[in-house]
Amino acid sequence: MKPPKTIPDYIRTIPDYPHAGILFRDVTPLCADAQGFRLAVDQLTLPFTGQKIDKVIGPEARGFLLGGAVAHQLSAGFAALRKQGKLPPPVIAQNYALEYGEATVELSEHAILPGDQVLLVDDLIATGGTAEAAVALVERLGGTVVAAAFIVDLPVLGGRKRLEALGVKVHALVAYE
Ligand code: AMP
Repeated sequence: MKPPKTIPDYIRTIPDYPHAGILFRDVTPLCADAQGFRLAVDQLTLPFTGQKIDKVIGPEARGFLLGGAVAHQLSAGFAALRKQGKLPPPVIAQNYALEYGEATVELSEHAILPGDQVLLVDDLIATGGTAEAAVALVERLGGTVVAAAFIVDLPVLGGRKRLEALGVKVHALVAYE
């Protein structure tokens, strides 16, 4: 009998995408497989069951599909962190640095209530720039990001350490050096 598949078995690695030198870690096959998706959502959720989580925040776009499922499991609400110009007003915006250049993400002012305990969910943490922008926006609305859960951590890029320095507990299912 074949051993059951684990999370890395479902992740595809695409060299030089979307830019030369980037190893893109694709979680699409994981989400497309019924058992894989169940496994991923269960493992992302496990450390937070029984903890007070009011909202999950997920960055566009893979954070929407994973974060929405985790929010449902935790009976929490879901806040969508979107690229600039996608949400109706009132929104708050945060710039952050990319490897080359800058980006802006936005959050609806109604998405987080003062006092909300928030869990950040995304497919992958690299430099931590996206996650740090999410933490800043949640704090501006009076909430607190207590923890963050990712399928993939790329530790050499330092995102986990950056989040931990902000007091955010980081949970990742696999790490690639
Ligand atoms: P960062 O803000 O640098 O932590 O980048 C995290 C965001 O960029 C996540 O939403 C990922 O979906 C995406 N990302 C960055 N690097 C990769 C990679 N090597 N493979 C897949 N997605 C990536």
